[in-house]
Amino acid sequence: MLSDIQISRQTELRAIADIAVQMGLKPDEFRSYGVTRAKVDLQVLPRLAAQPKGKMVLVTAITPTPFGEGKTVTSIGLTQALHQLGKRVCACLRQPSMGPVFGIKGGAAGGGNAQIVPMEELNLHLTGDIHAVSAAHNLAAAAIDARLHHEQRLGAEEFTRQSGLIALNIDPQRVVWNRVMDHNDRALRNIRIGLGNNGPERQCSFDITAASELMAVLALSRDLADMRTRIGNLLLAFDEQGQAITAEQLGVAGAMAAILREAIEPTLMQTINGAPCLIHTGPFANIAHGNSSVIADEIALGLNEIVVTEGGFGSDMGFEKFCNIKARASGVTPDCVVLVATLKALKSHAGVTASEINYPNLAALQQGMSNLAWHIANVKQYGLPVVVAINRFPDDTADELEWLRTAAIEAGADAVELSQAFADGADGATDLAKAVITCLQQQVAFLPLYNPDEGLMQSLQQLARRGYGASEVELSTQAQQQLAQIEALGGNHLPICMAKTQMSISHDPRLKGAPSGFVLPIVGLKLNAGAGFVTAFAGNIMTMPGLGIKPGYLKLDIDDNGDIQGF
Ligand code: ADP
Ligand code: MG
Repeated sequence: MLSDIQISRQTELRAIADIAVQMGLKPDEFRSYGVTRAKVDLQVLPRLAAQPKGKMVLVTAITPTPFGEGKTVTSIGLTQALHQLGKRVCACLRQPSMGPVFGIKGGAAGGGNAQIVPMEELNLHLTGDIHAVSAAHNLAAAAIDARLHHEQRLGAEEFTRQSGLIALNIDPQRVVWNRVMDHNDRALRNIRIGLGNNGPERQCSFDITAASELMAVLALSRDLADMRTRIGNLLLAFDEQGQAITAEQLGVAGAMAAILREAIEPTLMQTINGAPCLIHTGPFANIAHGNSSVIADEIALGLNEIVVTEGGFGSDMGFEKFCNIKARASGVTPDCVVLVATLKALKSHAGVTASEINYPNLAALQQGMSNLAWHIANVKQYGLPVVVAINRFPDDTADELEWLRTAAIEAGADAVELSQAFADGADGATDLAKAVITCLQQQVAFLPLYNPDEGLMQSLQQLARRGYGASEVELSTQAQQQLAQIEALGGNHLPICMAKTQMSISHDPRLKGAPSGFVLPIVGLKLNAGAGFVTAFAGNIMTMPGLGIKPGYLKLDIDDNGDIQGF
């Protein structure tokens, strides 16, 4: 089989303006970036508000393993198949971060014959949105340190005399706004800044841009005005008296919003077979809320019968956050859930290692099935229909696939279909598409997992017990203090964004399958007043990944024509 980039490069692309018009956009509602990308103008939103909305299909998966489950491949393959069946369909996906692209995972434009094209444009800068988030985020960081510097250098009175601004008296030890960069860069996790005469000198750290609260703001905003308000609410630091200082008070919110003026517009691309795809925002699902933007969904749902989107990692992660964070911001709940599983990943949950993973092993499959059964039950508790998609790999045997089909139905799946989209594109996902169409005829009564109005502690308990199968949640002393502080700041009724390992349903990556009865430790809580959620840290979760010993960048190069090799 050809490599992903070979398949992408030999695709006959349609002009993006044609895709836009085919999707129902008017000529003044988008701006082409060359012939492969277009930004959708937000002036389309008021027009679409009056339109009947399409159905939302949310793709999720079993607990990730090192073998790759294939949510993005399945999302794109399903979109291609629905398009081929004549449905008006659009995919809404996140923009890949360069961290994973140059790290272990590689690109995130799908793979094989289920891809967004041109894949290298999607995987590298696209229309620069992630860089814009970094720039806007770091403007606030620079503004804080500059303010600290000048107020300290001049003293409050002289500062006010010269600048006309009221001194903020920021406590340099209580700046809660980090810096960000879209790379895996371990060396920036813990640094000192302001050395020499550039102080005050203080401890600082970088997060990856995908974890920036500003990325979440962009993803959860309903329109430009909502984004501007949310940016103003960003909590940046505390002053010497312990009072919160926001981006509005620092006077930097307007400029941050100006930097994001184009990044708030989704980018239109196409699948290999010419179905539309809106790419927008890129929060990770372990350290952030893991779903593409509310605005892209709104546009896609206003113009299509069916929208396919992906929640990151397993259903305890991106799916949970779609249902309990994003849906509260957007009012859009899923109509059908596609749960991706593979034989290899389920065997991996039973402890089978890489050298044995491609061999038939029914006993291991039976044991690993506990993980799929858990995720089916998890989706069902939200009142949603679930179609299991078995993403087929070349070594999979017919016997094991058949066993899994029966077991998934017994575990409560509404339907189970093989997906062969990687090998066969739209044709390989036609059965899956038909099962999804059937499921979408069901009436759905969506049930969120918890009610944020009952307060943070209650929400945390519900999420730990019902969302992960924990017996209890335990807050560290620091987390208890932070809880009290967040309550005092008025954040008690916000939903929770759990920062947790994606490698287990629990907080412990070693607990495979379907762990239960564990105590979920919360070591920290952070108010994200702009995004509108409270991040809870289940153990020490890195918000800046590092590169491994053999990172993906080693394979990448460029030839004399400017064509990228190695994807
Ligand atoms: P996820 O979205 O769940 O992280 P992706 O769809 O990005 O997973 O797939 C992970 C990797 O596995 C990608 O490189 C993809 O091309 C590859 N992959 C997915 N499904 C298959 C398959 N059926 N056969 C071969 N490779 C696959
Ligand atoms: Mg993915």
